[in-house]
Amino acid sequence: MIYLDHNATTPLNPQVLEAMLPYLKDKYGNASSIHAKGREAREGIDKARGIIALTLGIASEDLIFTSGGTESDNFAIKGIALANRDKGNHIITSKVEHPAVLNTCQFLEKMGFEVTYVDVDKYGLVSPEDVKKAIKKNTILVTIMQANNEVGTIQPITEIAQITKGRGVYFHTDAVQSFGKVAFRIEDLGVDLLSISAHKICGPKGVGALYMRKGVKIYPHQHGGHHERNLRAGTENVAGIVGFGRAVELMRENFTQKNERIIKLRDKLHHGFADKLDDLHLNGHPTLRLGNTLNLSFEFVEGESLIINFDLKGICAATGSACTSGSLEPSHVLTAMGVVGRIAQGAVRFSLGEVNTEEDINYCLEVIPPIVKRLREMSPLKKGNNS
Ligand code: PLP
Repeated sequence: MIYLDHNATTPLNPQVLEAMLPYLKDKYGNASSIHAKGREAREGIDKARGIIALTLGIASEDLIFTSGGTESDNFAIKGIALANRDKGNHIITSKVEHPAVLNTCQFLEKMGFEVTYVDVDKYGLVSPEDVKKAIKKNTILVTIMQANNEVGTIQPITEIAQITKGRGVYFHTDAVQSFGKVAFRIEDLGVDLLSISAHKICGPKGVGALYMRKGVKIYPHQHGGHHERNLRAGTENVAGIVGFGRAVELMRENFTQKNERIIKLRDKLHHGFADKLDDLHLNGHPTLRLGNTLNLSFEFVEGESLIINFDLKGICAATGSACTSGSLEPSHVLTAMGVVGRIAQGAVRFSLGEVNTEEDINYCLEVIPPIVKRLREMSPLKKGNNS
């Protein structure tokens, strides 16, 4: 099995599992309890929070644990929107956001908020100038992802932050895909809120975090007990949080070397395909792109057919994002980038990770081109095949 779908999720690092196991067995206390078992669980959470905060370059108390990237995005956007209604009701986002952001914005539109969805260029890049132009007197929030999950394009977050800062507008970024693939510190980005998720960095599923700058006016997302500074009620997922902390710790080890190795493998895959196949199109920015992501359109064939055929050969890849696959609609990201339907249909996302080896890439280069050629021979989209 060759797993090239790390943007959907990553395998749990065995060392992360090892760190979590005690909290699923003996260290079962409720972190809110004041007795020894409770304190033991609290220590686990505090340690994880400290590791993640240090990595992001923030104070521990500025990090709130959630159930994942989707909740962090919902929390940031709805929380800011509801708490700042007296100031305005306008939100700016982009057309290429993850559904966790887009559908939250659409929900808020139904609740009376106004949302501007800024365009992207052919590489999927948002122009800071467009964000600047979209800001109005009643704008309260800009939410633009740091890196796109489908094509990997990395947005000019620092430049956008400079624009929002001067205008008193909150800026949230969804860093779910970039965290672990791009080195950054929150201070350098200049954002007010930032979402991350553990399962994209070899941590467990169902745990994430939201950074919020001190003084940000935000409403709690979940009401109940006094957990997470009264902002996110609910007994903490102690084992998950401990696993998240350990995953971040491991992610930091040899960060540059690991990422450089992955870039080399990804580029070998890309160049290998280009040597063996015509009519290939790279989707996303050629350089301002996540080092692990290769979104390629194989013209004249359907992405779905390719994925099924790859699967039969033991290769896991994806068409759009995991959250939109299964839908026959062309990817909203490729559509926003102006990729025409016929090319968008042939898009496949290969997303690499730490587990991948040179042998994996060699195998793909041996197996995939003949699949593409065979499907093209049968394709009614290819000129001459239906004459
Ligand atoms: N945002 C982006 C950019 C993502 O890629 C994902 C997951 O695919 C999410 C948010 C949602 O994160 P989670 O799966 O942790 O809810």
